Amino acid sequence: MMMDLVIEKGLIVTGAGVFEGDVGIRGEKIAAVASTGMFPEAASRIDASGMYVLPGAIDTHAHIEEPFQGCVPEEDWTQATRAAARGGTTSVFNFVIQEKGRALADLIQTHKARAGRLSLIDFNFHGVFTDFSDLDAATAEIPRLFDLGVTSVKQFMIYSREGLATDDWALYNIMREVSAQGGIVGVHAENCAIGEGLTARLAGMGRTRATDWPRAKPPFVEAEAAQRAAMIAEFAQANLYIVHTSTRDAVQIIGGFRARGLPVFLETCPHYLTFTEERLSAPDGKYQVVSPPLRRREDVDALWKALAEGTISIVGSDHNAYGRKDKDPGYERSGFMGVANGQPGILEILAILHSEGVRNGRISLPRMVEVSSTNAAKMFGIYPQKGTIAPGSDADLVIFDPRKEATLGSNLYEAADTSFYEGMRVTGFPVATLVRGRVVVRGGELLAGPGSGRFVAAAVRPGMYAGIR
Ligand SMILES: [Zn+2]
Repeated sequence: MMMDLVIEKGLIVTGAGVFEGDVGIRGEKIAAVASTGMFPEAASRIDASGMYVLPGAIDTHAHIEEPFQGCVPEEDWTQATRAAARGGTTSVFNFVIQEKGRALADLIQTHKARAGRLSLIDFNFHGVFTDFSDLDAATAEIPRLFDLGVTSVKQFMIYSREGLATDDWALYNIMREVSAQGGIVGVHAENCAIGEGLTARLAGMGRTRATDWPRAKPPFVEAEAAQRAAMIAEFAQANLYIVHTSTRDAVQIIGGFRARGLPVFLETCPHYLTFTEERLSAPDGKYQVVSPPLRRREDVDALWKALAEGTISIVGSDHNAYGRKDKDPGYERSGFMGVANGQPGILEILAILHSEGVRNGRISLPRMVEVSSTNAAKMFGIYPQKGTIAPGSDADLVIFDPRKEATLGSNLYEAADTSFYEGMRVTGFPVATLVRGRVVVRGGELLAGPGSGRFVAAAVRPGMYAGIR
């Protein structure tokens, strides 16, 4: 069979294992995967000797172009997804937060059109309801989201000041309807009353330095909300996804729900796997105020263990590119109360999982692929179109050099001017990224333009959550 492109002699990694071979691509799809030399006819070839060939990462958690807490991101869809592609991410799930009084589905249409003009990688969304003044109207909208190809909703359990917090009754009702449609509800799990109460009390005492931030939201704040969300989900017979898990306590509690076979899943982020709260003491610590806060060493270790064992299933970025322009004056004025929670991270998922995880023996290569790609595709309804290397799947591929050294930080972004990872050295980095058979980045050079990314419609099917670990 004549191939358009063959990626040859690489170590092909999927969730199922590792083998040396060639990937044959025709058009936008993987046509065949075979041992080396089986595709003699090809219009072009990429030699991947000594490289890993991975399914492109799927970032389940991004806030591209989302204003929050008085800050506006420094970048647009094109700049964010160029960074994503450089880091080996080929699909992203971005949040669409309802504007009160406006239909969420309409807003998703608007975002879909804008991302379609600007994105370099494929994309979908998680809807976020914020208007609970008419709960029946909100739940009646949920089937429309599924018609649009969106099968997940994420709700905030905190942020009442920002008008985002979902009370337990609204959460329960949204869970019921989303699960009736076969989808999944994500939650930002933090106890609203106590988290915000402790934050206000610390602020009242003038303790608003970045180093005080972990005291505003101690592990209890996350663990209690995670447990409550899981209990509500069990009662509602719902599928639940808890985003950006940061604590050992939440992992232990949710591990119990998972051991009982309940469809409750955890996501964590690269920064919770890399840093402790000591990162907040650095000269640039004021930029590292995120929610939940960076934690202690025992939490970091527990997250890696849970990731390896299957209690945590997904690593997403929680990317927010708020810049110094907004954060500096805010921090000057009122410490952590004045800086939008969030940091860029859309580029570092594979680099951190490999350098900190695989190289240190904390996770295997197939597990890196599961938690960065395969599980996300399964959970959010785009598998096997995305998330694996198999005939018929989209040719979303990363050629990853396990020996390449790179320095992480804002130097890798076009618009973000702060980073958790400023100056951090890693070993292993993508050298080429393909989206649907097209080379988007190769050797650091960008080869695709705005609008080459496309909306990837999600769909539910029976049993889709069953095998995810
Ligand atoms: Zn987030």
